[in-house]
Amino acid sequence: MSDITSNIISLKQQIPSSVKLVAVSKTKSATEIVEAYNTGHRIFGENRVMELISKKDLLPDDIEWHYVGHLQTNKVKFLVPFISMIHSVDSFKLLRAINAEALKINKIVYCLLQFYIAKEETKYGFSMNEVIDMISSEEFRHLQSVRLWGVMGMATFTDDEKLIREEFRYLTDCFKVLKEKYFPEEVCFKEISMGMSGDFKIAIKEGSTIVRIGSIIFGERN
Ligand SMILES: *Cc1c(COP(=O)(O)O)cnc(C)c1O
Repeated sequence: MSDITSNIISLKQQIPSSVKLVAVSKTKSATEIVEAYNTGHRIFGENRVMELISKKDLLPDDIEWHYVGHLQTNKVKFLVPFISMIHSVDSFKLLRAINAEALKINKIVYCLLQFYIAKEETKYGFSMNEVIDMISSEEFRHLQSVRLWGVMGMATFTDDEKLIREEFRYLTDCFKVLKEKYFPEEVCFKEISMGMSGDFKIAIKEGSTIVRIGSIIFGERN
């Protein structure tokens, strides 16, 4: 058994079946992705549009691609035709651009709102107030071609488990408020995407429904 095969099998034994796994394959080759695919896994995540486009044609069609990286509006048109979920919607401008491209090809694109929960300047995302302003607006109600499936966040990169736990707990609280007050009727608004190789166990304890894991499956990146 290759490392990738045994890594993904043992990882799945540590994740409850109610939690979805996105295998984050950024920087990894099509051959490495096929190894994970051959275990039966179908959900893969990437964080660069052009890298994803170039790999996707080498890989089976039934892969469900999730986009997890910062997305520039000028790249949206390349992603929209095939992407299953965009985890990283971090501005109204971006959501608007996704909607416009999806409308052109008569598609609905599933999105998560990325919240800024970490104590790191390098991370992207909305604040709760920005999200509330956006979803309360008239314009938001008229976006026909995007569906919000929930929220996403990245905790601070640190060994401080207490801080990580607080950040994940905050994201879960934001999700609950949005669900109760703004999306009570929307059955699809149900996902909390949080947890990576270093912190997925904490994330699951704090209510994660989707974990995004790369290094544990594919090994360290350069
Ligand atoms: C790279 C990446 C991951 C996976 O990171 P690992 O630490 O390798 O598990 C998850 N989410 C996002 C947004 C990423 O960019």
